[in-house]
Amino acid sequence: MFKKAFYVGWFDCFPITRGVECLSEEINKMKNTLELEKKYIDFMMKKTGEIINIDSPTGYTEEATAFVKKEFEDLGFKTSYTNKGGIIVEFGGEDKDNGLLLEAHLDTLGGMVSKIKSNGRLELTNLGGMNPNNAETENVKVITKFDGEYEGTFQLNDASIHVNGEYNDVKREWSSCEVVLDEDVSSDEDVKKLGISIGDIVCFDPNFRVTKSGYIKSRFLDDKLSVGILLAFAKYINDNKITPKRALYAHITVFEEVGHGGCGSVPEGCTEAIAVDMGCVGEGLDCTEKQVSICAKDSNGPYNYNIVKALIEAAKKNGIDYAVDVYPHYGSDVEASLRAGNDLKHGLIGAGVYASHGYERSHKDGATNTLKLLIAYAIKSDIAFYSV
Ligand SMILES: [Zn+2]
Repeated sequence: MFKKAFYVGWFDCFPITRGVECLSEEINKMKNTLELEKKYIDFMMKKTGEIINIDSPTGYTEEATAFVKKEFEDLGFKTSYTNKGGIIVEFGGEDKDNGLLLEAHLDTLGGMVSKIKSNGRLELTNLGGMNPNNAETENVKVITKFDGEYEGTFQLNDASIHVNGEYNDVKREWSSCEVVLDEDVSSDEDVKKLGISIGDIVCFDPNFRVTKSGYIKSRFLDDKLSVGILLAFAKYINDNKITPKRALYAHITVFEEVGHGGCGSVPEGCTEAIAVDMGCVGEGLDCTEKQVSICAKDSNGPYNYNIVKALIEAAKKNGIDYAVDVYPHYGSDVEASLRAGNDLKHGLIGAGVYASHGYERSHKDGATNTLKLLIAYAIKSDIAFYSV
């Protein structure tokens, strides 16, 4: 049952009327290509959209984690919360002393109210690497602690170009931009009466959309696209009744954007961890949005040589479209795990994402190639010591 699912299309659609030559050619082609049923890709895209539409700036992730935890449970897996709010998912497995951990983060960039201005506008400070340059004109939601939510827009101070002669010259910084609340407020007192306080969370609209051509455009594909991919991975394991030989876990982390998401909670017995996070796309790099990126090195140094090699080999063997790149400005959860003192072999893969930390773009194919590489590496590959 599992193998049939693996080579779906081969048994079902085999062209029996063709000649022997074509036949063996077809077999070879199919053997070297990991095919995925459409239902996994559709599921991955649907879940990615649902997750992205639940706000979860770093430090405010409870609703999103509750949703994702239940999704993994509905797929038949045991989950638990870490003390700081992440989720550990247990996929089972026989060898508990040689476990593999997959890490993806559910926290995103966002803002926090740092000042209520005398004109009734809000000054923000960043949560994670949110940047005023690419947040300007975005719709926002201010989440108060006790008095509900309010809508607004993140604008340049004095944003009417017909009024403000300096409009084009002002450097976009947190101090030169503000939230204009969609409420009748003109003083700090008015704002405070609404229940808005310093320290309130501000969520930026993700604007998730998928084009007819398969491009996924949204804020926070980093790293919610990977969480959607891991849910599809879980569905694949469940549907095909796979028991990994090595113990297999996922940690859905919640403080990656501030650097300590993967610091703790590495399940006992894990010897290896792979971060599933966005792959970089940009000038000088090979990866496109349609590929899975295998990171050889980022700002913190090289990834484990043997793991990078094994990931490349798994991609090659299974006809998965991949690129190997060096990321110039990047750090990952798995490096946080190492810095926290865990003894692990480490790797990083992810769908290619352009305009990272801005209005990001990826493609269905990049996400699918990432899912395929996870299956090939963590389940199918003899390199990863798995059996089914
Ligand atoms: Zn990320």
